[in-house]
Amino acid sequence: MRAARMRAAGHARVYDWAGRVSRSGAGRCCPATMIVSVPECLFCGVAAGDIPATKVADGERVIAFRDINPQAPVHVLVVPRDHYPNVAALAAAGDAGKGLLDELIAVARKVAAAEGIEDSGYRVVFNTGPDAGQSVAHVHAHVLGGRPMAWPPG
Ligand code: AMP
Ligand code: ZN
Repeated sequence: MRAARMRAAGHARVYDWAGRVSRSGAGRCCPATMIVSVPECLFCGVAAGDIPATKVADGERVIAFRDINPQAPVHVLVVPRDHYPNVAALAAAGDAGKGLLDELIAVARKVAAAEGIEDSGYRVVFNTGPDAGQSVAHVHAHVLGGRPMAWPPG
């Protein structure tokens, strides 16, 4: 089941941070471009149930779980089961990712409501690439709330 899902999501491919298919080879990390291969992907592991997480939503295409290092009283990650290295790659995926970005945002809203931060306000953040501090190359929306937040972000 997971193998089929991985094939459907183009798991044989390796992407760079901008979501471009890499030409530098399959399945290995490259320090120059921070290419991450899917077998090493943390959030693919969480989605498969191989890596434990505190889930707050568990859908067919999207899961949500608490961040292991919360930056606010509410800090939940909303993650598609299929692997895309970041939101740019998902946006560029066309039919392969059809509706998935909508679903991520819809789940983010439901999480915010369930966590009681809908009225007080919250942030939905997709860190994308090195300057944004993206550390896990599997697209995820941070849902942050429960305290006032500064702007601009650090
Ligand atoms: P980013 O830096 O935007 O790529 O966000 C990755 C997030 O994943 C960070 O906020 C980490 O704290 C979080 N994280 C890393 N490993 C885990 C894990 N095993 N379970 C839950 N959250 C994690
Ligand atoms: Zn992944």
